[in-house]
Amino acid sequence: QQTVYTFGGAAPHDDPRQRDKTITGGKGANLAEMASIGLPVPPGFTITTEESVRYLREGADFSDALRSDVANALKHIEAAVGKNFGDAADPLLVSVRSGARVSMPGMMDTVLNLGLNDATVEGLANTSGDERFAWDSYRRFIQMYSDVVLGLDHGLFEEALEIVKEDNGFYADTELSADDWRALVTEFKALVEQEQGKPFPQDVTEQLWGAIAAVFDSWDSDRAKVYRRLNDIPADWGTAVNVQAMVFGNMGDTSATGVAFTRDPATGNRAYYGEYLINAQGEDVVAGIRTPQYLTKDARETAGAKPLSMEEAMPDAYGELARVFDLLEAHYKDMQDIEFTVERGKLWMLQTRSGKRTAKAALKMAVEMVGEGLIDEQEAVRRVDPMALDQLLHPTLDPDAPRDVMTTGLPASPGAAAGKIVLDADTAEQWSQRGDKVILVRVETSPEDIHGMHAAQGILTARGGMTSHAAVVARGMGRPCVSGASAVSIDRDTRTLRIGDKELKEGDEITLDGAKGQVMLGIVPTVEPELVGDFGILMDWADKLRRMRVRTNAETPDDCRMARQFGAEGIGLCRTEHMFFDAGRISAVRQMILAEDEAGRRKALEVLLPEQRADFTAIFEVMAGLPCTIRLLDPPLHEFLPHSDSEFADLADATGLGVDHLKRRAGELHEFNPMLGHRGCRLGITFPEIYEMQARAIFEAVCAVQKESGEAPLPEIMIPLVATRRELEILRALVERVAEEVFEEQGARVDYLVGTMIELPRAALMAGEIAHEGAFFSFGTNDLTQTTLGVSRDDSARFLAPYVDKGIFPRDPFVSLDIDGVGQLVEMAADRGRATRPDIKLGICGEHGGDPASISFCEEVGLDYVSASPYRVPIARLAAAQAAL
Ligand code: PEP
Ligand code: MG
Repeated sequence: QQTVYTFGGAAPHDDPRQRDKTITGGKGANLAEMASIGLPVPPGFTITTEESVRYLREGADFSDALRSDVANALKHIEAAVGKNFGDAADPLLVSVRSGARVSMPGMMDTVLNLGLNDATVEGLANTSGDERFAWDSYRRFIQMYSDVVLGLDHGLFEEALEIVKEDNGFYADTELSADDWRALVTEFKALVEQEQGKPFPQDVTEQLWGAIAAVFDSWDSDRAKVYRRLNDIPADWGTAVNVQAMVFGNMGDTSATGVAFTRDPATGNRAYYGEYLINAQGEDVVAGIRTPQYLTKDARETAGAKPLSMEEAMPDAYGELARVFDLLEAHYKDMQDIEFTVERGKLWMLQTRSGKRTAKAALKMAVEMVGEGLIDEQEAVRRVDPMALDQLLHPTLDPDAPRDVMTTGLPASPGAAAGKIVLDADTAEQWSQRGDKVILVRVETSPEDIHGMHAAQGILTARGGMTSHAAVVARGMGRPCVSGASAVSIDRDTRTLRIGDKELKEGDEITLDGAKGQVMLGIVPTVEPELVGDFGILMDWADKLRRMRVRTNAETPDDCRMARQFGAEGIGLCRTEHMFFDAGRISAVRQMILAEDEAGRRKALEVLLPEQRADFTAIFEVMAGLPCTIRLLDPPLHEFLPHSDSEFADLADATGLGVDHLKRRAGELHEFNPMLGHRGCRLGITFPEIYEMQARAIFEAVCAVQKESGEAPLPEIMIPLVATRRELEILRALVERVAEEVFEEQGARVDYLVGTMIELPRAALMAGEIAHEGAFFSFGTNDLTQTTLGVSRDDSARFLAPYVDKGIFPRDPFVSLDIDGVGQLVEMAADRGRATRPDIKLGICGEHGGDPASISFCEEVGLDYVSASPYRVPIARLAAAQAAL
C-alpha cells in the first residue's frame, strides 16, 4: 500500500485512496481534490492515517517504506516549487499539519516554517529581500517546534518576547525590527539548549521527522482523547500528516491570511463570512492573538468596524477568493470552511472542508440549498446531524423579559445559557458534576479547556474572534458562546472579574445570549421553542422518507402532549411504576408491599385502582387513536420502601404499625442483586393481584375514553423481564381474563394487544417460543445490554470512560447499542419472532431508541418503530429517515 500521496504541482490525483478521508484524512483528501479542480494549492504530500496507526501500534517506529516514500515526495515539492529543502541559498520551507478523518479543531499539532536553521534563514532573507520577515519566521519556527516537538513550555518563549517588548517600549509584535528578531532567535536557541541539554536541531531532515512524530503522537494526547470521547471518534482512526510548501501571509502589507466560510455558520445566511489579518500567519487568526478584520465590506459596515475589510483592502485577491468560494460550493455542494493565505497579492488555498455549523444554520442551509437546486430533499435530510437538533428543542430567552446587559461581545454561537460563573475548566466540570449550571469565563479558550466547555452551559471569552477556538468548538458542541467581549477582565488570583463597571466573583449568576453576543447579569427567563419554519420543512421531508414509526417513552399527560408536538406517533413505553411514586399514593403502595397476605395487598390495591385509572385516562385522552404500550410493574418492591428514619416514622403513622416492625419487614425484602431479583414479571407471577389491578385500570380507562370521545388508543399491554414462554402464557391469560371482566361490566369492547419486552438473553434466544404468546416484542435494550454484557447499568459510569478511551467499546454501550454483541441478540430475536408470528410488531424502548447509530441498526433489522424520550423524538424521526435512505 502507498504510504504517501503527493498533491499540487504535476502530481496525479487519480488514485481513489487519495480522495478517501479514511486514508488521507479530511485535510489531505480535500487538498488533493482542490488541486485536481485547478485551485491554487501549494504542493505537498500526505502521509496516510494507516501509517500513524502502524507507528503508534509499533511503539513509535517509522517503517522503511515510509522513510523512502517521504524522501521521494519531498522531491516532488522541491520540483514543483523550484527550491530545495535545506538549501542555504534558497530554501524550501514546509508546514507539517495533522489531518484526521474528521476535523478536530485545535486538538492536534501543527508546525510551520519548518526547514529554517542558522544557514537557511540567511537564504530566506536574501531571496525574499526581507530580513525582518526571515528572522520573524525563524523565531516563530523555534517557538512552535519547541512547544510541539520538543515539549518545552511555550511560556518561556513568550516571556522572553515580552521582556524585549517591554525593554524597547513596544506594544505590538509588528514593531520589532530584523535585529530585534535576530537577537531573540539567539536567546530562544539558548533557552532550548538550557532546557533540553542539547542545541536546537539544525538538520532539516531531523526537524521534519521530529514534526511527523509529534503529529502522530498528538493523536494519543490527553486532550485529543477527551475530544474523541465527547465526539464518538474511535481511537483506531489515527491521523494523516500533511507536509506542504509554505506560503507566507506575513510578507508585508500585500500579504494576509484568513479563515472563511461560504455561508454564515451561525445563522446559515447566504453571505461570505470570515476574518483575515494582513501581514500574519494562519495561527494568529485562530489563536485570537490579534483581533482579525472582516472579510466583506457589508460585514464591516454592519459591525461599525473601522479597519478595512479584505474586500476593500485587497480587492483583487478578494475577487479571486470569491470566485473560489463559488467553485467550491458548486463542487462540494455544501458550505465550506476555508483557510487561505495571500502571499504578495497571490491567493493560495490551504484547506477546505465542510464547515461546522449550528443546528439552526444546518437546517437553513439544507432547506435553502434544495431551493437553489444544489441538492435534493434526500440529501438535505442526510445533511443534518440528528443530534444537533437537540439545540433547537430547548428553551430560548424570553424576548419580553428585562435584560440587564453588562456588555456585548461577538455572537459566536447562538442559544441561551445561564448559570454560575466559573473561571477554569476543572471547576466547570466539578461544579456541573455536583448539579450546578455553569458558564465558563476565560480570556480565551485552548484545547485544554475542552472538558470544561462541555460541562458548561455556555462560554464567554474576553478575546478571540468568530473563528477562535472557543467559537469553533462551541458551535460544534452546540454550546452558546459570546467571544471577544473585551470589557471582561479576569483576576485569576482573587477569582473575581469585572464586566464593564460590574464587579463579579466566581459563582455569581449570568446569562448569555449567543445570538446577540449579550452578557447579562442574573438569570433571564426562557420560553419554549417553536418548531416551525426550516425545522418543520425538513421534518416533513424526513417523515416522507422514513419507514419506521417513532413513538415516545412517557408516563404523564404533559410529556405525552409535548412528545406529540415533537411528532410522536404513539407511546412505546409507559413505565407504570412512575405513577406509584406520586406523593399522594406512595403510602398505599407501601401498605401493599408491607401487607402480610393477599387480602391485605388487595385492600391497598383498591386504593390504587382509581388513581391508576385516572392516570391512564388522562394519558389516553392525549393519545387517542394511537398505539400505547403500557408496561406493567417492573422494579423490585423494596424500591418503594422508605429509606430515612423520618420516612419510616411517617409510614408508621399512616399504617398504625410500629417503626421496628416496618424496618424488619423492609429488611426481609432486601435483595443482594435487585436487578436480577424479584422484579418484572416475577412480581406478576408471585403477586398476580398487582397486575390484575393494573390491567383493570388500563381497560377501564380505555373504555372510558372510548365512550367519551369515540376514539380510543390501542393499548398494548407489555409484560417486562420475561425469560420463558410459560411466564408470558400465564400473565397473558391473566390480562385477557381481566379484559373480559371489564368489557362485560362496561358493556363495551376495545382492541388491545398483549406482548412482552425482550430484555434478557434467554428471551432473545427463546423468541420463537415466546412469540406464540405475545403479539409484540419491544426490545428493552437497557436491561438487555446490562444482562448480556454482565455490566451493571447503574454502576458502569465509574469504569466505562477508560473502556471507551482504550477502544474496548467504541461508545458507551448504554448510550449507543453494542451492535456487534447485543445487536446479534436483537436480530436473532426479531428473526425468530417473525418466524413464529409473521405479523409480530417489533419495536425498541431502551435508551438506544433515541440514538442515531442504534436507530440505523433498528432499520437494518426491520423493526417497526423506535421509541424515545419526548425531546429525542425529532432526533429519532430524522435518524429514522437517514437510516431508510
Ligand atoms: C430497558 O430495560 O431497556 C427498558 C426500557 O426498561 P427499563 O429501562 O425501565 O428497565
Ligand atoms: Mg428494563
